[in-house]
Amino acid sequence: MPELDATQKILIVDDENLIRQLMSALLNGFGTIDLAESGAEALQKIESNRPDLIILDVQMPEMDGYEVCKRIKENEQTAEIPVVFLTANSTNKDEEHGLEIGASDFIRKPISPQIVRTRVANILKLQAATRQLELLASTDPLTGAYNRRHFMESGNNELLRSNRYKHPFTVLMLDIDHFKAVNDTHGHQIGDDALKETVRVIEDTLRGEDTLGRIGGEEFAVLLPETDVARAGLLAERIRIAISEIKIETLTEPLTFTMSIGMTEVRAGDTTMDELLKRADEGLYQAKEQGRDRVISV
Ligand code: GH3
Ligand code: MG
Ligand code: MG
Repeated sequence: MPELDATQKILIVDDENLIRQLMSALLNGFGTIDLAESGAEALQKIESNRPDLIILDVQMPEMDGYEVCKRIKENEQTAEIPVVFLTANSTNKDEEHGLEIGASDFIRKPISPQIVRTRVANILKLQAATRQLELLASTDPLTGAYNRRHFMESGNNELLRSNRYKHPFTVLMLDIDHFKAVNDTHGHQIGDDALKETVRVIEDTLRGEDTLGRIGGEEFAVLLPETDVARAGLLAERIRIAISEIKIETLTEPLTFTMSIGMTEVRAGDTTMDELLKRADEGLYQAKEQGRDRVISV
């Protein structure tokens, strides 16, 4: 299990100031601590700060902890955040109810410092391990780009959104030109360096909301949400130029290479990422046919 990570965010929610102060003192060093004194304030802070762990008092006026927990678990964006209830005189029935609505654990009042620290540390470590696993499962180990599975999942979600709100959405397919010759001339290691540098350069060019996936050996794809084909064309052209400016050190001359790009914008009637990628791939095929190192829109 990983060590505690001081960047993890803990939100402590209790209507009693004394408990908030006590809990934050006990958890000093466990992460970045934030406080809320009501359910409403907690929900607001959860929405804007996305804590890694929520310690939630059950008994609070207006909105109690159970209600806050229900709302956290109903929201897809926050449902995975672990909730630990702070309970006074709780019965088995109360704890049963808490578990049913998604609590990860309970801390009983009066508070025992050692139990608080141990329970919170266990959950934070589990949380960090889960994050690490999610990252491993969704990225390509060589380049750090998203893998095909994650890319397709994100793409299908984006496609649904774009269809629902009638927003533009463009997909790029990118493939390094004559990459086999790179390996043949300089060896697999240099080829790997070129792939890593390719991802770094593409990511530098993209905006935060764009998604890059490695979908085959030297084949990549990009999701450009809220982007029509005219704007996407400018971006693709910037990527193409930036790739052609890469220089990889080798034992001999520095290695340079180029990339061909096909792109397509979503149209009425497009329902799957597979269709979109296939169409972008037609553009890519034409780019290769016409001499490589170019962008073709289909
Ligand atoms: P084209 O311009 O038509 O795309 O030609 P190409 O040589 O790039 O295409 P081809 O599909 O014939 O070759 C792709 C090469 O990419 C072959 C394979 O050895 C190499 N490759 C795939 N994955 C990796 C990898 O992870 N590391 C390295 N070093 N090479 C890889
Ligand atoms: Mg209370
Ligand atoms: Mg290629």
